[in-house]
Amino acid sequence: MNITKFSYCFGCGVCVATCPKNLISIKMDPNGFYKPFLNNVDLCVNCEICIGVCSFNSLTTAIDNEPILSWAAWSNNDNIHRKCSSGGIGFEIGKQLIEKGYKAVGCRYNVEEQRAEHFIATTVEEYVQSIGSKYIQSYTEEALRQIDRKQKYLVTGTPCQIDSFRRMIRKFNCEDNFILLDFFCHCVPSMYAWKAYIKMLEPQIGEVTYASWRNKFEFGWHDSWLMGVDGEKTSKPVDWHDSYNLIVRGKKTFIQSRKSQGDLFYKLFLGDLCLGPQCQNDCKFKYDKSSADIRIGDLWGQTYDKDEKGVSALIAFTAKGENVIKSLKNVTLIEHPFEVVAEGQMRKNATKKEMSPVIMYLLRHNYRLDGMLFRVTFFAQRVLSKIKSLIKK
Ligand SMILES: Cc1cc2nc3c(=O)[nH]c(=O)nc-3n(C[C@H](O)[C@H](O)[C@H](O)COP(=O)(O)OP(=O)(O)OC[C@H]3O[C@@H](n4cnc5c(N)ncnc54)[C@H](O)[C@@H]3O)c2cc1C
Repeated sequence: MNITKFSYCFGCGVCVATCPKNLISIKMDPNGFYKPFLNNVDLCVNCEICIGVCSFNSLTTAIDNEPILSWAAWSNNDNIHRKCSSGGIGFEIGKQLIEKGYKAVGCRYNVEEQRAEHFIATTVEEYVQSIGSKYIQSYTEEALRQIDRKQKYLVTGTPCQIDSFRRMIRKFNCEDNFILLDFFCHCVPSMYAWKAYIKMLEPQIGEVTYASWRNKFEFGWHDSWLMGVDGEKTSKPVDWHDSYNLIVRGKKTFIQSRKSQGDLFYKLFLGDLCLGPQCQNDCKFKYDKSSADIRIGDLWGQTYDKDEKGVSALIAFTAKGENVIKSLKNVTLIEHPFEVVAEGQMRKNATKKEMSPVIMYLLRHNYRLDGMLFRVTFFAQRVLSKIKSLIKK
């Protein structure tokens, strides 16, 4: 028996890093989700290590921890605070651990492959690429293969990625070397949603050279769902050294302002119109369930509803996580009960919408996202949702 026994999983890639025969790789399935595949079934020795570390092989989380302490938090560096998705606390944790000798495994956008991917940063300058949420599934194979379990790392990821990772480091008795960080996670959409979105933009901007999913500069944090996408026709490729100088060191550099309309991508993502089964059936990590040491998120909710710079929700799930948080410098931490910090977060799975199969069909067959068929389908979904809510009343 091996990892392919699952008809679906999240494609977190942890199984790849554990296979003693190096037989597993991550590829995209016909619905646009990363999945593990076995390169040569005949060489599989059925050791079942891949299954043992897979979060989707278990009904419970890898650890059964409760939130210990929770805070509203933000970076005191104004550039970091404004550039990151919420309060920039995710970046501060990575930055400060790198300064203490850790390596940080985070997620960046790869413009050659047009995908989000995990990477290992050994310097703060490299880690700048992790800034910002990429609301698509991250490809992890190469980064996870490179991790040396004898060294010290911060690993960031979706809750299910982190849950599998926790199982792996337990299995190999190297938990002490790792600090695990996840976030409140809505879900991830099919990669075809992202591909359809950039395909729609490319005639105007050329091949995408930069993508940012959140932008507080225009309308503030509460209304920061503004995609910033640049292409070869509209700007030069990003120089990450300039970004580091500007964001971390506060050196003035000219950075072009980018803006484009993200509503169609967010319609698919936040409208739950192209979820994978792993998000809509099996997510066991909502609200206060996590296998990480630390969880971050946006602190939506009443307490900070006037704040437009962005406030991170920050939760310690383990004593190790609490120590890391308490050792942070140059950040603001305000302790609150968990219910305040998690206000507005989902308590259960995102649910599949009636028109999802049609949307998935259109995405699989490369229909234009701004074309008539998508418009009719979005409209039909709006009508169905309205009828459903009237019946509920
Ligand atoms: C798919 C997804 C769904 C989310 N859903 C919610 C939600 O429902 N509620 C909520 O409050 N917050 C959610 N978040 C988290 C939120 O958007 C911010 O990332 C979080 O508030 C941290 O922001 P920050 O300002 O501390 O730092 P940032 O620097 O903006 O932190 C981003 C961190 O997330 C990591 N990351 C970014 N994209 C991915 C990815 N695709 N896969 C794995 N890791 C990634 C980066 O490595 C970085 O460490 C989600 C994030 C993602 C990627």
